[in-house]
Amino acid sequence: MRQAGQVVARMIAAITRAVEPGMTTQDLNDVAVQELSKHDAKPAFLGYLGFPATICTSVNEEIVHGIPGSRVLKEGDLVKCDVGAIVDGLHGDAAVTLPVGKVSDEALKLIEATRESLNEAIAQVRAGARLGDIGEAVQKYAEGRGYGVVREYVGHGIGRRLHEEPQVPNYGVAGRGQMLRAGMAIAIEPMLNVGTWRTRTLEDGWTVVTADGRLSAHFEHTMAVGEDGAEVMTRLRE
Ligand code: MG
Repeated sequence: MRQAGQVVARMIAAITRAVEPGMTTQDLNDVAVQELSKHDAKPAFLGYLGFPATICTSVNEEIVHGIPGSRVLKEGDLVKCDVGAIVDGLHGDAAVTLPVGKVSDEALKLIEATRESLNEAIAQVRAGARLGDIGEAVQKYAEGRGYGVVREYVGHGIGRRLHEEPQVPNYGVAGRGQMLRAGMAIAIEPMLNVGTWRTRTLEDGWTVVTADGRLSAHFEHTMAVGEDGAEVMTRLRE
């Protein structure tokens, strides 16, 4: 899983370096495919439940599961890239939200808050902690700043399969829920909205958008639960 995590980290680094106004979301997918091809790894999302691409690209009010295509990214857009890879049958899964050129203060603050809410959640992870500790950390941080926390989509266990038990919600009550054990692997993935937490799905059957059309951001890491903390496997190591 460490290797899969590092492939994902490199794919995200390549996308982050490449993104600029004028590119299409398909171009970002191609950048990810090119990086993936340098490693002995397979895409985790392509064909998963019929998903047609290697990464998910979700722009502005799109939250998750957007399909790369001919959409041209404009200065000021926010693009969320969710990336997965498989090495030796084991999965890595991570996501980032990237500004396209110069973006609004509202967008920058949302990106920062979402990244930070993930860090707050990761800080809760250790053997003996409970899923509610993670959920409350995200929810408190996000709602304390006025953001909506998406509820219909949550983090997850990960390993031989992309999505395993348990579900890892971004809301909850500390001290409640399943206890984490050393050696478990989970993906934590807060999705924060400027407005309502409510969502709807577009007619393509995949793209999830905010119900009010306002901005959304998403960050995700895959990590192993250790006795004293998380080992984040999708963070880029040199
Ligand atoms: Mg995930």
